[in-house]
Amino acid sequence: MSQQFNITILPGDGIGPEVTAQAERVMKVLESKLDLKLKTSELPVGGAAYEATGKPLPDDTLNSAKEADAVLLGAVGGPKWESIDFSLRPERALLGLRSSLGLYANLRPAKVFDALVDASTLKRDVVDGLDLLVVRELTGGIYFGQPRGVETDADGRRRGFNTLVYTEDEIRRIAVIAFDVARKRNKKVCSIDKANVLECTGFWREVVIETHKDYADVELEHMYVDNCAMQLVRNPKQFDVILTTNMFGDILSDEASMLTGSIGMLPSASLGGKNGMYEPIHGSAPDIAGKDWANPLATILSVGMMFKYSLGIEKANTLVENAVEAVLKLGYRTRDIMSEGQTEVGTQAMGDAVVKELESAEC
Ligand code: NAD
Repeated sequence: MSQQFNITILPGDGIGPEVTAQAERVMKVLESKLDLKLKTSELPVGGAAYEATGKPLPDDTLNSAKEADAVLLGAVGGPKWESIDFSLRPERALLGLRSSLGLYANLRPAKVFDALVDASTLKRDVVDGLDLLVVRELTGGIYFGQPRGVETDADGRRRGFNTLVYTEDEIRRIAVIAFDVARKRNKKVCSIDKANVLECTGFWREVVIETHKDYADVELEHMYVDNCAMQLVRNPKQFDVILTTNMFGDILSDEASMLTGSIGMLPSASLGGKNGMYEPIHGSAPDIAGKDWANPLATILSVGMMFKYSLGIEKANTLVENAVEAVLKLGYRTRDIMSEGQTEVGTQAMGDAVVKELESAEC
């Protein structure tokens, strides 16, 4: 009997619906190729949900996400909702989903496809063959720590503050994820901190070293975040798995994304709870929304990660990665990765090309 899975699709705002539509087509091809049964439910999130219900994360959307085997998200946000109350902004839906689903680990691979080596702003020999993975802690650290705020003292002087805090359990569980994925890769973890200045990240280092005792087969090194930012552009191929805190990971993974040529190429997986959430790392790109210009490959590659990490079908991820590599080799390029001599295509046509490759792929 075919394996059955429930997938919740949250297209969101801006280019979100354009890129998830192409990713859904890819899912359908994988469904028939691998003899699976996928039941998909599409629900509003972010600005679209706010317009429909007055909330960026309506109960129906959250419940569907909780019940699904995996969630595919496009992107949320846009200028239309920038002036509404902070608690109702589209981006709040992301925090709500991550915390309600217990998604404390964000995996962001930065892989340079052979055909795109020259799309990077860095020299060919620096990025050629690059394949690293950032494992970012997602539900703790300074983005969530209390107390936080801006206050005014009796003399009218203002002060802004946030709190960087990690518990031992929060560090240990993200370190376990990093060591486990490293085992399936090149068995190297580099843990990033600022242990020379921040006590909390000195503690981070201590707990990572303790957790490493169960992973003697994985090499562990430590690096300060400022050095890592520099090493990522100097010699990024030295890294296999980068393990880091919420804020450092936010910054370093965007830096890593540019090594691959475009933010439109980078998928991500958020794990930790009973199911996972998969999304491109880019936002809703309001500047290009509705023009059929968006690169759907990051979302399509996110579908591959979904099959690998939530549905346990690693072969599907390989099929997706190979199909993407093949269409790039054929010269198809959306505007963000376009270079001389290649064929410019829109969002839909890029989806067509990937679907065609997948349909003819051997499994
Ligand atoms: P963005 O990622 O949306 O866009 C940055 C630049 O990259 C833009 O020039 C855009 O055109 C381009 N770009 C992004 N994705 C692309 C793609 N697939 N193909 C081609 N080009 C692409 O970031 P931003 O402009 O800072 O934010 C826009 C909105 O998205 C904001 O409301 C922000 O809050 C929101 N946002 C949402 C998420 C999310 O949903 N996970 C993440 C980041 C930003």
